[in-house]
Formats: sequence, C-alpha cells, structure tokens
Amino acid sequence: MVLLGSTGSIGVNTLIIAKRYNITIEALVAGNNIDLLNKQIKEHQPKIVAIANEADRVKVNHPNVLCGTDGILHLIETCESDTVVNALVGYAGLAPTLKATSLGKRVALANKESLVVAGEFINMSLITPIDSEHFGLWYLMNERPVSKLYITASGGAFRDWKLNKMKDATFSDALKHPNWSMGNKITIDSATMTNKLFELLEAKWLFNTSNIDALIEKKSIIHALAEFKDGSTTAHFAGVDMKLPIAFALRGEVEEAILPSTDLLAMGAIEFLPIEAERYPIWNIKEHILNNPHLGVVVNAANEEAIKAFQAEQCSFFGMSEIILNAYKKFENFKANNIDEIIQIDKEVRAYVTQQ
Ligand code: NDP
Repeated sequence: MVLLGSTGSIGVNTLIIAKRYNITIEALVAGNNIDLLNKQIKEHQPKIVAIANEADRVKVNHPNVLCGTDGILHLIETCESDTVVNALVGYAGLAPTLKATSLGKRVALANKESLVVAGEFINMSLITPIDSEHFGLWYLMNERPVSKLYITASGGAFRDWKLNKMKDATFSDALKHPNWSMGNKITIDSATMTNKLFELLEAKWLFNTSNIDALIEKKSIIHALAEFKDGSTTAHFAGVDMKLPIAFALRGEVEEAILPSTDLLAMGAIEFLPIEAERYPIWNIKEHILNNPHLGVVVNAANEEAIKAFQAEQCSFFGMSEIILNAYKKFENFKANNIDEIIQIDKEVRAYVTQQ
C-alpha cells in the first residue's frame, strides 16, 4: 500500500497494523519529521518516498524522493498499489484523495477534511473511512431499517472548564485532550467541537443521511449508536485506540484481537450530554450545514486559518469560532459545481479571513 502522512499519529498506527499483517509498503509520504521518516524507511523499505519540502530532500535516506504536492500526486500515479491510506492532515489531503480515486484506487481515508471540503465530488464507493465513530456506525448497521445515527464526542480539552476561563485558554491548553492522543489540528478541532461537526458531514457523505447527531460521552468508550425504527438502539463500545478502525480499513474484516475487550465492570457510569452552543459556538450552524453540506469547504478553510491565528496568539479561543461563523455567513450562498470551484472558494475564504 501507499501511506500518506506516515509520521503522524494515524500514520504510525497504520504502520503497526501493516507490519502485523505483512502488508508491503510501496511508498511513504511525510512532512517535516525526516528523522522519523528515515527510521520508517529503514524498517519498511518503501520503493519511493515523498516529503513536503524540497529543502529536506538531502536529509532523506532514500534514492527515490519526490517533493511537494506535485511530488505526492506523482507518487500516487506511479505506484502499483491498489490501496492508498490518506493520513495527511487538513486541506492538503484533498488533492491526493482525488488523484487516488480518479485512478480507481481504494482510499482508506483518515483525512476527513477531504470529505468535508468536497464530499459531493468524491467517488464514495472507493472510500473506507478511518475514523472511530464512522467505523462504529458501520459496525452497528445491518439490514434493519435505521431511524437515526449518533456519534459521540469527548467534549475536548475544555469540557469541564468554566466558560469565563475558556476565554483566556491558550493553544497549549487546547492541546490537552482528555482521552485521545492525536495530531495537533484534530486536538484543537476537538476542543472547539469542529471535529464533531466535520464528522457529521463525513457521515452524511459516507452513509447518505442527514439524520445524524452527536452527543457528549466523556469516557470515549461508546463511539457510535444506531437507533432503529423498531425503537431499539445499539451502541458500539471500544477502547480509545485507532488501530481497530485502521485494521478494518486495511483488511476488510478482522477476526483476531486488535484491542483488549472492554472491561464492563471497570467502566462505571456512562452518561450522555447535549453539545451546548454556548461552550461550542460552532454548534450554532449544525442543522444548517447538515442541510447544506456543500458549505463544508467554507468552514474548513476558515477553520484552518483560525487555528493558525489562535496558535500565533492573534485571536482568542472563542475568536476562532467567531472567524468561522463570520466566514460562514459571508459565503452562505456559495455552491460549487465542480472541484475547480471548490479550490477557488477555498482560496477566497482564506483571503477573506486573513484580511479581517
Ligand atoms: P498528524 O498531525 O499527527 O499527522 C499528519 C501527517 O501528515 C504527518 O505525517 C505530517 O508530516 C503529514 N503532513 C502534513 N502536511 C503535509 C504535507 N504538506 N506534505 C506531506 N505530508 C504532510 O495528524 P493525525 O494523524 O492526528 O491526523 C491525520 C488525519 O486523520 C486528520 O485529517 C485527522 O482529522 C484524521 N484523524 C485522526 C485521528 C487520530 O486519532 N489522530 C482520528 C481520526 C481521524 P510531519 O509530521 O512529518 O510533518
């Protein structure tokens, strides 16, 4: 297989699963962490690698190195593997998803931003999600008619903070996720609940339904629930570990233990709480965006710029939501007819947000 984002949180777990099942790694793609990439090259012996920046080429211990976005796209084109794991973060993941699917390759997709931004234009029959909630939904769904789907949220770093204190929260405060160890961007997106909004959009494209909602379950033991028309509801319990969805995405079916089973007696009380817009202002647009999922590109572009501003201390924690909601209002009437228009609007939203 081809692995994009090998040095990230999902990438590292993917290599553990690949090793367990003797899956050959044809290519690795990384950003700036060349030390880790070199270790991965030594262990997995890929035929070709790609990195983000030309300047790092000399540091890579491999004879066949491509660079930048064009390099990644060329790598996907030249590789023979039928499976591409896309574990890149953010908008940078979109073009590789489109390239892989246009070549008829199966994409094991952790890069949820691809679906958020351009779900309408992606061939869903080639996509297998690597996301615990969507894996949970898939696991729960069977032939029976479903009336509603639910995914859960941990509530992120500030779920128990006083609202007043949240106003002064810093970037490093927001990186302290209570349950999951993940890359920086998704951890910030968890604190703002943008990650859950993205997951609702992801579910919309994957399962072709807008009848989906999210709830807070602070222990992150239950990842998804399916409510059936007969009035019964089933829940998916699993450990806080991405190796399970990754194993299923790579293998299709798994019969041996990937994680230790849930210790029901040790878990204690399970509680579901509503997601309140006061703490998570992005939730104000949930209903509207589920009915207008083509606006995902607007939220994604504004969000990526807002995170940069928050990290650079140019806006507060709640300032990020203000930036996103403001852009959402401004570009509310936009609807792309093709990928070129998506790329254009992404640029326009970023330009608008950075000029404010
Ligand atoms: P990380 O930040 O840990 O990893 C991102 C990876 O992408 C790294 O390998 C990074 O390289 C690489 N990368 C970033 N930009 C470029 C670029 N321009 N060119 C080449 N490589 C690049 O993120 P995560 O693993 O946490 O998340 C990846 C995706 O998976 C995200 O879309 C996230 O939402 C999703 N996801 C993550 C989950 C998790 O548990 N972590 C759970 C569910 C979904 P380097 O580090 O070398 O710079």
